[in-house]
Amino acid sequence: MSRLQQVTVLGATGSVGLSTLDVIARHPDRYQVFALTGFTRLNELLALCVRHAPRFAVVPEAAAARGLQEDLRAAGLATQVLVGEEGLCQVSADAEVDTVVAAIVGAAGLRPTLAAVDAGKKILLANKEALVMSGALFMQAVRKSGAVLLPLDSEHNAIFQCMPGDFSRGLSQVGVRRILLTASGGPFRQTPSAELEHVSPDQACAHPNWSMGRKISVDSASMMNKGLELIEACWLFDARPDQVEVVIHPQSVIHSLVDYVDGSVLAQLGNPDMRTPIANALAWPERIDSGVAPLDLFAIARLDFEAPDEQRFPCLRLARQAAEAGNSAPAMLNAANEVAVAAFLDGRIRFPQIASIIEDVLSLEPVVAVNDLGAVFEADAKARALAGQWLNRNAR
Ligand code: NDP
Ligand code: MG
Repeated sequence: MSRLQQVTVLGATGSVGLSTLDVIARHPDRYQVFALTGFTRLNELLALCVRHAPRFAVVPEAAAARGLQEDLRAAGLATQVLVGEEGLCQVSADAEVDTVVAAIVGAAGLRPTLAAVDAGKKILLANKEALVMSGALFMQAVRKSGAVLLPLDSEHNAIFQCMPGDFSRGLSQVGVRRILLTASGGPFRQTPSAELEHVSPDQACAHPNWSMGRKISVDSASMMNKGLELIEACWLFDARPDQVEVVIHPQSVIHSLVDYVDGSVLAQLGNPDMRTPIANALAWPERIDSGVAPLDLFAIARLDFEAPDEQRFPCLRLARQAAEAGNSAPAMLNAANEVAVAAFLDGRIRFPQIASIIEDVLSLEPVVAVNDLGAVFEADAKARALAGQWLNRNAR
């Protein structure tokens, strides 16, 4: 490789961010960290800066920036600290950056990710909420700028690997019948409805196969994660919602499958470790070592499959409805979910109320067209306000 690839990691202090830096550190001959961003875990951000010596670090506000800047100087580093969303957008769009890893959680990642898209970068997308919120506009921006959008979400990375190279011609053109999106089923796969009333945030965050941030862990427990992923798959692969089938596969070894018209079904398998899709997307179309152990099929021994239960997990149904309604519906679904998950993690509501909030918010607000980013943020703000009112009426 002629030149080191300059990589910005948005959300470096999170689970995906740390896995990304683990892979990058294995390949100093290929990658150099250009910028790292954090939000609350600023001691971790400092430690990451000491390890990777980025040109820039980004933190949410000025006082924290001054503190970090002093610490960095004391450590002998020339890293410059930038502030807020403006700083995030700057390190996403900087002319020297080749690759942006979008690993901020939630709607907060939308503008910085779009800044990378508009600047025509190679974008490794973990921040599914950004794409769910703004789907059509996001994909239009990718086409306009010529950005290369590669999925980090393990399922979408698996689908990407199982698709033919020219899938953007259209699924029917390339002989794809449907996408089979696998789901572990989460920690409550076998929990009866009545018991879901009493589950705690820590139980919801104890995922059987994956170690992840708390928001996505709750999403996995409610199956909203799979709902968001269904919408994500529709945009990434230009699929209709009815072309994406959710399959519960508790072992999380098959990360998803593509079903072709000739009856062939291609799957991607691997240990449940984000470093595999990260390494795949970082090096694409080449392959590099990720540090993940080889898959031991004898130890796994069996692969099971079940249909999802939308009665116990209504979030999946709500997400499918939002996917079908399109327009402002996915942004509202996402925003209501973000508010509901935060309230659940704060102990203000019970687990099944996450779905109740989302369903009520979506039923209160008509679906409207979203022709620009302003309309996306308007839908997001409306849903947050309605979810907030729901909490004021009903929560502890
Ligand atoms: P984490 O909670 O572990 O990390 C989130 C990151 O975003 C942290 O760096 C956090 O900073 C930062 N952050 C949080 N809020 C803001 C904000 N308002 N502004 C700027 N930065 C912010 O989450 P994960 O790494 O688990 O997930 C990140 C994204 O990747 C999510 O969209 C998730 O759905 C997706 N994803 C995650 C997978 C996983 O295995 N974890 C798998 C597939 C997708 P700080 O920590 O300093 O507060
Ligand atoms: Mg996933």
